Amino acid sequence: MRFTKSFFYILICSCSLQLTAQTQTTEAAPEQKVVFIIVDGIATDMLKNTETPHLDALARDGGYTDAYVGGDKDGYSKTPTISAVGYNSLLTGVWANKHNVWGNSIKDPNYNYPTIFRLFKDVYPKKNTAIFSTWLDNRTKLIGAGLPQTQHVEVDYAFDGFELDTIRFPHDPMRDYIKKIDALVATEASMYIKTNAPYLSWVYLEYSDDMGHGYGDSPQLTQAIKYEDSLIGKIYDAVKYREQNHNEDWLMVVTTDHGRSAHDGKGHGGQSDRERATWIVTNSKETNNYFKNETPAIVDILPTLTSFLNLPVADATRAEWDGVSLIDPVDLTNLTATLKGNQLVITWKHLTDPNTKVTLLSSKTNAFKTGGTDAYSKLGTTTSGAESYKMTLEKADQAPVKILLKTQNTTRNVWVTQ
Ligand SMILES: [Zn+2]
Repeated sequence: MRFTKSFFYILICSCSLQLTAQTQTTEAAPEQKVVFIIVDGIATDMLKNTETPHLDALARDGGYTDAYVGGDKDGYSKTPTISAVGYNSLLTGVWANKHNVWGNSIKDPNYNYPTIFRLFKDVYPKKNTAIFSTWLDNRTKLIGAGLPQTQHVEVDYAFDGFELDTIRFPHDPMRDYIKKIDALVATEASMYIKTNAPYLSWVYLEYSDDMGHGYGDSPQLTQAIKYEDSLIGKIYDAVKYREQNHNEDWLMVVTTDHGRSAHDGKGHGGQSDRERATWIVTNSKETNNYFKNETPAIVDILPTLTSFLNLPVADATRAEWDGVSLIDPVDLTNLTATLKGNQLVITWKHLTDPNTKVTLLSSKTNAFKTGGTDAYSKLGTTTSGAESYKMTLEKADQAPVKILLKTQNTTRNVWVTQ
């Protein structure tokens, strides 16, 4: 990756616009389709210091941003910078305090926070979805395919589990078998997207993380990043093929699940800057000011996907998301709520017109976590430019546990801390 986010495009209006407008009246609207890719364990600086022509091309067509994982490093949403934890933060749009995946053993995911696959299938049970993955647990445990807790959500086409086939892929200490599986998975993803074009696809590639663990900052890791980049290029080619030959509009998002340790680039799991430092690359030309000027998080990807797909999502689910869309307007970020004695103090950062109206709501329960419903009541209204709201509670038993801030464009939530 050889550039930063300060890219500007000049849109050239051509006189073909008028022609397009005339023909559009007789054509159906393009179908919206999504593919997202997680390429494992590549810290921001590692990506920037490696030649990645395919990701560069993707970013030139759309955009690149630095990003982060790990939740609020000093707060209640602090989330380990561990692989499955990061994948699930992408899939659910919430941090580990909600989705409850704390490690790669994925002991007890809280499926009350639905994944993008569940949200999609709840609305479009007949539209096809796919996963192409070097790790089986992504489908069976994180998506929870076929489980009663996920209402038996299914992924229509699953190309995964090869890491368990030790006859076809004997496990070698240099992890060459993972390199081969990544190639198999990406090649199939490219072919399948080209021919079958699922509405929603997840591609997961692992080899870069293995080289990170084995060698840390090293030529081997650099080579692995280049290798993954070439595989990502195949998938982008398929997306472009679909857009050129079919009436389809594609969103492609590529990210990583965590950075790596500062001292040697091998480990991860902690809250150091380098372990938290990730990135997002997309083909979208519609990225917002939040994408361009702030540092988004992995949890912002899910709201971006649902927005692009125009997917209806229940208000109660949406109200739990820790992320916001990277393509819709975003009015607020950095929300906090603190209760000291009877004093409730709510703060945020405004990103748009400071006169934007903000409605503040609170709930005294957190029943969503256990599958229930929370009742929100209005605390008051203010303007986004105020960036704080203070109130004195009359009785301690009125203490809210969750706060919502709503503007015309944005809903953000925060848990109250004492
Ligand atoms: Zn990982």
